[in-house]
Formats: sequence, C-alpha cells, structure tokens
Amino acid sequence: MTHILHRQIAGTLPVAATGSGIEIVDSTGKRYLDASGGAAVSCLGHGHPAVTAALHEQLDRLAYAHTGFFTTEVAEKLGDRLIADAPQGISHAYLVSGGSEAIEASLKMARQYFIERGEPKRRHVIARRQSYHGNTLGALAAGGNEWRRAPFSPLLIETHHIAPCFAYRFQEPGESEEEYGRRAADALEAKILELGEGTVMAFVAETVVGATAGAVPPAPGYFKRIREICNRHGVLLILDEVMCGMGRTGTLHACEQEGIAPDLMTIAKGLGGGYEPIGAVLLGRHIYESFANGSGFFQHGHTYMGHPMACAAGLAVQETIRRDNLLANVRTQGALLRRRLGERFGNHPYVGDIRGRGLFQAIELVEERSTKTPFDPAKKLHAKVKKAAMARGLMVYPMGGTIDGTRGDHVLLAPPFIVTEEQIGEIVDRLGSALDDALA
Ligand code: PMP
Repeated sequence: MTHILHRQIAGTLPVAATGSGIEIVDSTGKRYLDASGGAAVSCLGHGHPAVTAALHEQLDRLAYAHTGFFTTEVAEKLGDRLIADAPQGISHAYLVSGGSEAIEASLKMARQYFIERGEPKRRHVIARRQSYHGNTLGALAAGGNEWRRAPFSPLLIETHHIAPCFAYRFQEPGESEEEYGRRAADALEAKILELGEGTVMAFVAETVVGATAGAVPPAPGYFKRIREICNRHGVLLILDEVMCGMGRTGTLHACEQEGIAPDLMTIAKGLGGGYEPIGAVLLGRHIYESFANGSGFFQHGHTYMGHPMACAAGLAVQETIRRDNLLANVRTQGALLRRRLGERFGNHPYVGDIRGRGLFQAIELVEERSTKTPFDPAKKLHAKVKKAAMARGLMVYPMGGTIDGTRGDHVLLAPPFIVTEEQIGEIVDRLGSALDDALA
C-alpha cells in the first residue's frame, strides 16, 4: 500500500535504493543500466563524488536564503558560468526549479518585453505540433501534444501551432533536406501573417525534439530561416533546450550546431544532472535592458528560485563537465552509439528510422518500413519495450507520439556523458533483446 500518487497507478514500481556511475540499484539488489539518464537528466550518472562533495559543502554553509532578501555566492558563480558559455547576445540567467517553470518564465518575459517597448498588441505564441514544453498550464498550452492537452484544453491560454520539422515523416520524395527545411520554416511566416503583423510575441521550439518524437534534429538551414523570419517580423525566438541542451547533443547548446542564437533559451535537466531540481531561462541583453530601463524588475518569482543547493549542484555538474572534457566523450560515444544502433537495427524489419545527435539518439518503430506505417497505438508498444527493458536491467525512454495525425512509437537513449564504449555495447545488446521480446 502506497500513500504516494505515482505517475503510474496500476502495478508496482521497483524501489530505487542506490546509484553509482551509470547504474541504479533497486531494493532487491537488481541493477539497471541508466541508458536514458531518467528522462535525459542524469548527465553525470549517479553518486558523482564531485557533485556530492559540493552539495555537502553548500549544506554546511547555507541551505536556503530567499531571493527577495539575498543573492548568494553560489548563484552568482553559476550565473557567471552560464553566461560565459552562452550563445551570442545572451547576457543574464534567471534561475528556477525545472523545465516547465523555465518555459512559463520565458513566455512572461516575452510578454513583458513587448509591454516595456510599448507594443502591448503582441500577445500570440506560436509553437509546433510536435513538441513538449512541460506540464504546467502555460507550458502545456505551448506544447503540441494533443493527448496531453486534450483534457485540460478549456484551461489553456490560446496558442497557435505550425507543422513540425521532421524529415523522416514529412520530407516529400524528390525534395532535398534543405528545401524541406525551408518549407517547414516558411510555415512560421505564413502563421505570423495570418495572425496579423505586430500581434505575435514569440515562437517556441525545441532545437532537437525530445519526448514527443524522439531525438529529431532539424533539417539543415531550418533554424537559420526561422531566425530570419523572427527578425523580419520582430518576433522573439525561444529555444527550449530543457532536454537537448547542456551538452547532450555534443555541443553545450544544441543551437550552436545550427549557427544561430535565440532571444531566450530554457535549460534544465542536464544543468543540474538530477542532483537537485534546477532550470534556467537564459535571456538576451535586449530583454534584460527592457526590464532594467523600464519597470526595473521582471514581474515574476518563485519561492525556490536560485536555491543555493540547486545552484551548488548546477555549478558542480557544469564544472565537472568542463574539467573532465566530457563533451568530447559525448561526441565520441554518441558516434559509437549511432554506429552500434545502425549495426543492430539498420535492417530490422520494425525499425524505420535511427536518428539523433551526440548522446541523444532514438529509434522509431514502424509496422511497415516501406510505408512508415506506425504500429496501432492500442498495442502500446512503447510501454512493452519499457517493461521488457526494465526486466533486463535497462532504462530507456520509449514513447508513443502523436504527430500530425501519424503516430509513432520511438525509443530514446540518453546515457550519462561518462558512458564507456563497453557500456554502449551492453546498452545496445539489452535493447535488442528487449525489442525482440516486446515485438514477439
Ligand atoms: N521542455 C522540454 C523540451 C522537456 O523535455 C521537458 C521535460 N521533459 C520540459 C520542458 C519540462 O521540464 P520539467 O519536467 O522539468 O518541468
């Protein structure tokens, strides 16, 4: 009998007892290889000594001080660290407790920016149908996952959705990747014009799509064109790098690989690596200055923002990634993971696509490869894969997605940045047998 309302009410969950490196051990002693970092969170694995030491030290000094009264050394250091490595034009970090909070804050920043500038008519948010931006009401409204939105739709703020950029599903035969990227981006301009010049405040997108479709990278040139369209129409670009950011794709920020910088960017999961709940909005100087020279504050705030323990975790995780040169390992092991997935599943009758960047890779499962026909959602194949993987001591992140009327099951892999070559082999072996089992 449990008194916790778990995510999953039916059945019982294993009890996670301890963790070290890329393994979690349950209360029966069974070991699980964490090949998904939970939900792409645990970038340094579990029990990393540098992070636990930093947390002990911060706890001994000061656990909490309200940001209405104080700043702290650890928050300032984390801010310096984040801005030193931020995309061009980003000047400040706003520290919150997770991804949804970061999205909520970024939307309010966009709105307040336009009020400060005397453009109160700008209120529309455009996002993409294939997207997840969080589960709080504002973030849920931005997201494009119909299944998640449906029961709460009367409570959601008005948002507008355009088609995603998803070459495997929507690139036309005979169309080059670049032509497709351009076509997908042009949907944004069409939507801005439809809603009316001067009424759109922001376009929100995950640089590499995570939970809804599984590590879908943008087509070449897509974000360059999105950036141009936003500039042309005075619309702010909010990149949601909650899942794909902070090194996951092999560069600290996924947008570096697109050659663009956003006006606002949300980060979370890999920022604190799961050691403490932390997220942030990275904001451009123009946004900061609109607040600083206008009302003098950003009209928002949470009790736990800038929490010293969360900042200590974030700072220790980020310093460790740099000190141990872990982004190089993300690139090397990411390339190996992709190669191994290709060897194991390249000719698999039910694997339609293998995609991703760095240590953010996914396979998409289809009933028929030539037609890309998804499995019947009623089969809940993704849930079967998860169960079969857990039985083999493997954590992966399978999901069934709803994408413009097509549904696909995919399995996302996002192992910690410390993963070794040997562990990559083990992950792919166990995934192969879990898939065989789930598909049998
Ligand atoms: N944005 C993206 C891209 C995410 O993947 C997530 C979490 N899966 C969120 C936002 C929400 O973050 P959180 O669960 O920390 O609120």
